[in-house]
Amino acid sequence: MSVRRLAASLLLSLLTAVAPAQATPGRTVAPGRTVAPGRAPTPPRRSLLGGQHIDGRCPPRFRRCLAFTFDDGPEIVTTPRLLDLLDAHHVRATFFVVGHRIDGDEPHHRAQRNLLREIARRGHLLGNHTYHHVVLGNLRPSQIAYEIDRTGDLIARATGRRPELLRAPYGLLTAPRSLGAVAARNLTPAYWMIDTHDWEVTSAEAVQARFRQELLEHPHGGVVLMHDTRPWSVRAFPLIMQVVARRNAELVARGEAPFAIINLDQFVVPRGAEALRGAPLNRRGARGSRRR
Ligand SMILES: [Zn+2]
Repeated sequence: MSVRRLAASLLLSLLTAVAPAQATPGRTVAPGRTVAPGRAPTPPRRSLLGGQHIDGRCPPRFRRCLAFTFDDGPEIVTTPRLLDLLDAHHVRATFFVVGHRIDGDEPHHRAQRNLLREIARRGHLLGNHTYHHVVLGNLRPSQIAYEIDRTGDLIARATGRRPELLRAPYGLLTAPRSLGAVAARNLTPAYWMIDTHDWEVTSAEAVQARFRQELLEHPHGGVVLMHDTRPWSVRAFPLIMQVVARRNAELVARGEAPFAIINLDQFVVPRGAEALRGAPLNRRGARGSRRR
């Protein structure tokens, strides 16, 4: 076995030791510090520590938490409305971008590049979701490199910042050559815990019902998977926030910690003693909007 293949297999065993979110149902999270309701000081924007791993579980220092992620956009028809809804609910989210949507000179390409800048301007995080939305493990190394690097270049050119997060299409990131490509670029793979299944239904109410069910199955919450390319997903977001508000009211009435809405930069597994501390990103005051 060559040194390169040995390194790849070591990396694979290391990464598969932390199984993807969907492969760890019913896991428990060590009790953490209770998140007190109310405003907290604005935390500094921190590096996402590229090369680390986000498995989708709520970090132990939050007793219960949720982070919203939206994949496959930006989509000029649906994403702008979602941005307004996120602002109205004081939520900062992460958008995993498909490169071909922002690459080209057609009017919709230009509009979606502008939309990408607007997503970043409103304080959301951006991640790489490949160029063609393909299973990376099925590709040759040069194709894997193109999928990741072309998308990273496009996002960097549009926004001035290269994404540090990567979500593999379908969450499939097991082949040594695709894992190696992600690690070589110091990208942080991001999985999820709560799948709203908005990719297989066609109504906001069905997405809401699925989220409610998933929240029962994952009582500590975690990373939520949605798609900003689906109109019913956008319409479902306020309905999902109603579910969270009702659940939090029940929890607080029982003297238990409510779900904090945080973002993915709070999920990165810390390096050694450099524990990430600070208030949840989403507790930053939102501009002039009402509290619910
Ligand atoms: Zn996707």
